Amino acid sequence: MKIGILGAGQLGRMLALAGYPLNLDFVFLDPATEACAAPLGSHIQAGFDDERALTEFCVSVDVASFEFENVSAESAGFVASRIPLHPSPAALTAGQDRLHEKQLFQRLGIPVPAHAAISSLEGLRQAVRQLGLPAVLKTRRMGYDGKGQAVLRSESELEAAWERLGSQPLILEQFIPFEREVSCLAVRAQDGQMRFYPLVANVHRDGILRTAIPTLADPLQREGEDYARRVAEQLDYVGVLAFEFFVAGGRLLANEIAPRVHNSGHWSIEGAECSQFENHLRAVAGLPLGGTRLRGASAMVNLIGDAPPVAELAALPGVHVHLYGKTPKPQRKIGHVTVTADHHDELLALLAPVQTLVERYAG
Ligand code: ATP
Ligand code: MG
Ligand code: MG
Repeated sequence: MKIGILGAGQLGRMLALAGYPLNLDFVFLDPATEACAAPLGSHIQAGFDDERALTEFCVSVDVASFEFENVSAESAGFVASRIPLHPSPAALTAGQDRLHEKQLFQRLGIPVPAHAAISSLEGLRQAVRQLGLPAVLKTRRMGYDGKGQAVLRSESELEAAWERLGSQPLILEQFIPFEREVSCLAVRAQDGQMRFYPLVANVHRDGILRTAIPTLADPLQREGEDYARRVAEQLDYVGVLAFEFFVAGGRLLANEIAPRVHNSGHWSIEGAECSQFENHLRAVAGLPLGGTRLRGASAMVNLIGDAPPVAELAALPGVHVHLYGKTPKPQRKIGHVTVTADHHDELLALLAPVQTLVERYAG
């Protein structure tokens, strides 16, 4: 079976790596010359809105999915009118606008941070009076890794933030002094069956995910699954859905969804019965879902910025190194390591030297 993937970054690369044992072949569409998934399949190098390229993509594959979440509604619709596309264009676009995404959560009874749509400096001033400070100003569309955001801590910062971001539609969110951040990775098959990975505890710095550790019997597991199920069923979702939450006052507050495999699920390659990448492909290809249970304890640490000390990392016990074949650049995710152990205590002991080493090179 030939799977078409819109986007050819590291998520596409890891999807292909998971698909090889299932004898799946891959065609990627991506405008980048150095698309890191390209060596693992065929690469149609073109923009996501190029109709000729999209047509070539559709005739080359049996079924399609995406690893880039900002494919336009028009392009997704173009593909879906020709071949099966999972998740659907409606599911893809549900999370593309932060305001509409929050409205969807609210309709489904899922709590969200207090927020307001912003389209003028005066509107921003007024919203700050209502929501208070600190607050987070974000572009409604296209942000990732904390890009297109400004944390506002005093009135004096409003004008500069507006100057920087105000050319686009914005949203202001109350700053949540969260106890921790977690994500729920869910997978839904074409027949509606769902499976959930254990909630993942995530640590971000400068808006970028640094470490992700699957939890054991988290008290919020059921709540996370419930919210992910509500969204997935509403969208008739097929594939892996990632749902990011803040934990505040011991309850979940929805941050955002990603309609694709997710950085906070990379540990599942070594750490779960069936990885998020294989499970996404199973759902897209119409196969039964695989198990989401843990195989021991694991943790993922992102490699960001400078070329990492690969040999030093590989020499550490329990470490699995994943490099994406991307050119190192400040703030860029160029790989990750997963640390595995039989038990949680052992995991923490093995993780400490990995974090020390990675922090030294992180940029
Ligand atoms: P991703 O790379 O996950 O798609 P993104 O650019 O879409 O990220 P968010 O998930 O909105 O951005 O924010 C990135 C991080 O910034 C969050 O994980 C959290 O640590 C912090 N953050 C965002 N919004 C808030 C908020 N309202 N209150 C407190 N912290 C926040
Ligand atoms: Mg996001
Ligand atoms: Mg996020």
